[in-house]
Amino acid sequence: MKNICVFCGSSLGTNAIYTEAAKQLGKTIVSHGMGLVYGGGSIGLMGGIADAVLKEKGEVIGVIPHALSSKEFAHPGLTELRMVSSMHERKAMMAELSDAFIAMPGGFGTFDEFFEILTWAQLGLHSKPIGLLNVEGYFDLLLKFINHVLKERFIKAHDYNLIITSNDPDKLLYALKEYKLTEKPLSVINWKEA
Ligand code: AMP
Repeated sequence: MKNICVFCGSSLGTNAIYTEAAKQLGKTIVSHGMGLVYGGGSIGLMGGIADAVLKEKGEVIGVIPHALSSKEFAHPGLTELRMVSSMHERKAMMAELSDAFIAMPGGFGTFDEFFEILTWAQLGLHSKPIGLLNVEGYFDLLLKFINHVLKERFIKAHDYNLIITSNDPDKLLYALKEYKLTEKPLSVINWKEA
């Protein structure tokens, strides 16, 4: 596993523990010998995790749409910054460059990215592991709701099990490394067509 894609807030949130978790995850990614792929901004938890990886001499690839580069203050110090023309292109490129995905606390943008990569796995478009870093129980309500969705049979147990959760970055990275998809992915559809 070479690159981990992290989806997280362009805000810091109310609690300093989220920033601390972003730094910790960044450090842990480098300690596992992996690089970071993310949305390319320098604000919020996004900036925090990129800075943490760079501080540890790790590699960071940012992928940002032209239109967002001023709003999200495209990070000037990354190993590589890829400018793209749309949000869709951003997500597709982040997915292509990465071997696994982690969502940590964030807002609608983070949810969008997390659920899109999850639905692509559900459809068998990829078989890369997907984790949730559940900092301070941030995702508890979401996980409870997803459990409700399972009980109401709008998702299958197999798809529910696609989500790997932990509140510990190190344990989460080990779990992602060990993960094996039980069903063969379709892998016939190109990312860009998804
Ligand atoms: P947020 O969690 O809302 O702070 O957003 C986190 C990141 O998700 C930011 O870089 C947003 O620009 C990005 N984002 C929001 N909506 C989308 C989308 N539809 N596709 C790709 N990235 C998005």
